[in-house]
Amino acid sequence: MLLAEERDITPEKSWHYEQLAKKCQAALKKNNFGAFFAPTRAEALAQVMSMIPENAMVGIGDSVSVLQIGVIEALDGGKYNVLNPFRAPDGRYFASGRSSIDMMRQIVNADVFITGTNAVTLDGKLVNTDGFGNRVSAIAFGPKKVILVVGANKITANVDEALRRIREVAAPMNARRHTRHGMGDLPCGITGSCSDCRAPRRICCATLILDYQRKPMTDREPRINVVLVGEELGL
Ligand code: SF4
Repeated sequence: MLLAEERDITPEKSWHYEQLAKKCQAALKKNNFGAFFAPTRAEALAQVMSMIPENAMVGIGDSVSVLQIGVIEALDGGKYNVLNPFRAPDGRYFASGRSSIDMMRQIVNADVFITGTNAVTLDGKLVNTDGFGNRVSAIAFGPKKVILVVGANKITANVDEALRRIREVAAPMNARRHTRHGMGDLPCGITGSCSDCRAPRRICCATLILDYQRKPMTDREPRINVVLVGEELGL
């Protein structure tokens, strides 16, 4: 094998992520969550869009993963009523103000809610932490269908590891991301580690651990659906 080929470990990494994602998919199904595996971002986008009925009211939760696979642009190109509290009229990121909060409230009645997850465990549990609580509340109850886009880099062994991932990996990077949005610094965005701060703009205030989903009483499809992607996505 050529030296240049030896340096590229993309096939091995893809294989590793596929193994992890498929174990996770089986565990999620045992807990009654809808679970799909998409090897690539493009296949993940196709899977997500196939699950959204035309003319649906679609709510968006803050998620780098959703942005990365191209859902926002795809929704713009279709017949949907999109509620995105994280987009200002000029297209920039926007996460404060009365209209944004009002939209988060409307999303409780959406047909579909699309967001990411901070971690998913190998025993099929979903772990999320929010600042506002809009994302965790809409995942738990409200919108008729929930679609979570999750890169295989967010798969953890168990809930303890998921909680550690949120405070030591996702939150510090998210804090720096929000600094770029002009929202000021948080301690973890400076030190790279959680100090259980009391900052006014603390981004981890409400944590939701979903262990299991009840089987639907009327609809045949599960309410919460996870699209596991065989690539690194999000924070
Ligand atoms: S509690 Fe504060 S320091 Fe810790 S992860 Fe959350 S925002 Fe960062």
